[in-house]
Amino acid sequence: MRDHEVLVTDVLVIGAGLAGERAAIEAALAGLNVTILSLVPPRRSHSSAAQGGMQASLGNTAMGKGDSPDIHFVDTVKGSDWGCDQDVARLFVETAPVAVREMAHWGVPWTRVTLEKRVYDGKVIEEDPAKVGLIAARNFGGTAKWRTCYTADGTGHTLLYTMDSVVLKLGVTVHDRVEAIRLIHDGEQCFGAVVRCLRTGALRAYVARTTVIASGGYGRLYGASTNAVINEGSGMALALDTGVVPLGNMEAVQFHPTGIVPSWILITEGARGDGGYLLDKNLHRFMPDYEPVKKELASRDVVSRRIMQHIRAGYGVDSPYGPHVWLDIRHLGERHIRTNLREIAAICQNFNGIDPVHDLIPVRPTQHYSMGGVRTNIHGQAYGMYNLFALGEAACWDLHGFNRLGGNSLAETVVAGKIVGAAIARQTKETSPDVRWPLVYEHLAEESARIERLRARAVRPGGENVYALRHEMEQILSENVGIFRTEGPLVEACDKLRELHRRAQDIRLRGEGRGADPELGAALRLPGMIRLALCIAKGALERKESRGSHYREDYPKRDDVNWLKRTLAYWPAGADEPELRYEPVKITELPPGDRGYGESSSFAATAGRQDAGANPS
Ligand SMILES: Cc1cc2nc3c(=O)[nH]c(=O)nc-3n(C[C@H](O)[C@H](O)[C@H](O)COP(=O)(O)OP(=O)(O)OC[C@H]3O[C@@H](n4cnc5c(N)ncnc54)[C@H](O)[C@@H]3O)c2cc1C
Repeated sequence: MRDHEVLVTDVLVIGAGLAGERAAIEAALAGLNVTILSLVPPRRSHSSAAQGGMQASLGNTAMGKGDSPDIHFVDTVKGSDWGCDQDVARLFVETAPVAVREMAHWGVPWTRVTLEKRVYDGKVIEEDPAKVGLIAARNFGGTAKWRTCYTADGTGHTLLYTMDSVVLKLGVTVHDRVEAIRLIHDGEQCFGAVVRCLRTGALRAYVARTTVIASGGYGRLYGASTNAVINEGSGMALALDTGVVPLGNMEAVQFHPTGIVPSWILITEGARGDGGYLLDKNLHRFMPDYEPVKKELASRDVVSRRIMQHIRAGYGVDSPYGPHVWLDIRHLGERHIRTNLREIAAICQNFNGIDPVHDLIPVRPTQHYSMGGVRTNIHGQAYGMYNLFALGEAACWDLHGFNRLGGNSLAETVVAGKIVGAAIARQTKETSPDVRWPLVYEHLAEESARIERLRARAVRPGGENVYALRHEMEQILSENVGIFRTEGPLVEACDKLRELHRRAQDIRLRGEGRGADPELGAALRLPGMIRLALCIAKGALERKESRGSHYREDYPKRDDVNWLKRTLAYWPAGADEPELRYEPVKITELPPGDRGYGESSSFAATAGRQDAGANPS
């Protein structure tokens, strides 16, 4: 199998989003040879779609005055419903202000404090003239202070373009339009990855002293998601398939309150942060009825459930794509919308033909973020395998527990990128693994044989259609493992997904292409995606409590006595479902208490099963 190309590097980073690029920069600055891989040109990674902003307690604005890492810490822990690792949260909140200023230094054009007159929720906001020109912040859900730093509503765009410019300046090697399809490992150490070129179909091995998974989230398992189509969780599946690296808290899936109907593209939380309202079919502003204190800006899991509860009670607006509610930002005024919310104005115009200056925006909760991922320690080292790191949305570091606060993920990518990047550099310099070359060629040969097996059966009658199977998986997750969860549908989801996993062994391709053939790529990925889906469904079935985004109608209370623990999902070789183990959640500073969103009142359903995120097509 020596006809495949083999490339050698010190550090191999799988993923060119903000997390991967920030970690790569740290390792490159330490003098290491770094190679970054990406499915798409780096600037098209999902990070560039982020809109609203990133949290850091700078306290420059009138509404952020007095903010501190301590207050950010409390918000983050409450937001996570006490599911996060408090050591990680503390490290994160202390580093975020440094990271945001560092990004300014590298070129991010943060929106700045001005003296322009501003009315918010009926109150006039007056900024301190001494603070003019400093980095501004907007309001976001679940935060006690205005802390979300932003560049209009294109924050991810400016962050990623800036970050990628630094990558270019440092001369870091980037190979795009390639897909890592398997980790090379011996069950204890990782030696790199087998990678498929998406243009030619050629297989390569990248052999590395340290391998890093920064491949983003798995939103597209749900079909209806705000995520880019490339967010299929493939990096998490690579780790799971080692059999020894666990995925943490996969049942913790975030639904964002405002995906635009029916394309499910995100309308940023910044729209509500800047003063937008949610209205029902009678144009009644309903959130204050449920959440009198935080209203539209309770944490995301709470607002999403309240919207679905209200829709279930019959107050949704009917549409061919299922019932929805309205988001109203008209009162913010044309100038504000055309400057601070211009990207969502363009989305409304381009995808719905409406202008939010004059029109209401149809929205419904939509899958948005993966709190779960490759379980790592505070340094970003994956559990169970030496020389393997993970960070960003692909990882369970675990900053977010069972609910991520808006603005904490962009911040996580750059903060973790800095911290984990430094750990990667240290470890790579200190150790030099003895690469087991026969293993490299064995892994290449096995992947090559897997592809040839698929191609040999192509265009024969019978077998399973990869797109049909994928659609079934999306439906099962959306309908049975959505915002509201109960025992019966979860058992059914696990049964159906196990069956789907079995059927995925008999995929029959309709084409025989080898290179830029999306069907072949989908067929290679699908079994891993179904395994991730099973980790989500089984984790949700076993967790008999409600915590953050995981809401069990049959166990509506948080249960700290039995469930203050993190799920670890392993996939032993040859198994047909994951094996779940648990580890305690580290509580160092803030003991479990009330989240303070007024959510103790129940989310009692008034109608049958009908979950958000269900793909209507
Ligand atoms: C629409 C939207 C808006 C958002 N807005 C905000 C916000 O305002 N504030 C906030 O804090 N968070 C926001 N988020 C969340 C945040 O943007 C993401 O969590 C974060 O940017 C993820 O960064 P990442 O580097 O981990 O992954 P990504 O940016 O998703 O990058 C993943 C990279 O991995 C590569 N990759 C994946 N699989 C493979 C493979 N097998 N082989 C090779 N390469 C691979 C991809 O090509 C890509 O380069 C938003 C998310 C969405 C979807």
